[in-house]
Order: sequence, then C-alpha cells, then structure tokens
Amino acid sequence: MAFSQETINQAWRKADGRCECSLNKCRHLSKCSKELDPQNKIEWKKWHAHHKVSPDAGGSDNLDNCQILCVECHENTDNYGNN
Ligand SMILES: [Zn+2]
Ligand SMILES: [Zn+2]
Repeated sequence: MAFSQETINQAWRKADGRCECSLNKCRHLSKCSKELDPQNKIEWKKWHAHHKVSPDAGGSDNLDNCQILCVECHENTDNYGNN
C-alpha cells in the first residue's frame, strides 16, 4: 500500500513544505519544521510521505494518516522501513 500522488500533494500543502515531525527522540525542538525540496531532488532537503499508523497495523492511505517527514526524522519513526 502506498499513498496516491494526490494524497501526497495534499499532505505537502498541509505541511507547507516543512517536516511535520514532533518525535521526542529527534534532536530538534518541539517540531522539526525543516524546509524541504518540493521536487525531492536536493539531497539534504529530501523527504518522505510517512504513514503515521503503519499499513501493517491497519493504517490507511488517507490524508489523515499521511505525514511529511524529512529523511532523518523518518528514520527515527518506529515503523520506518514498514511504509
Ligand atoms: Zn524532520
Ligand atoms: Zn524529527
């Protein structure tokens, strides 16, 4: 399962092109808010569309389960590699 391009576009707009991570285990403050590359081509500004609830755990591919995360933050999520 994967998000549709349309869902990813909507999530991107909702996130305002910034990382939405608020994980405690990351070293950023309450929110990462890193500016990301809309084209996802610039190495240090790359991002993923993350399943907040992993598909394995019954998470959907809907917008409300989609979170824009920079790659660094995505690697810190519990279900990384699972979505
Ligand atoms: Zn981040
Ligand atoms: Zn983070």
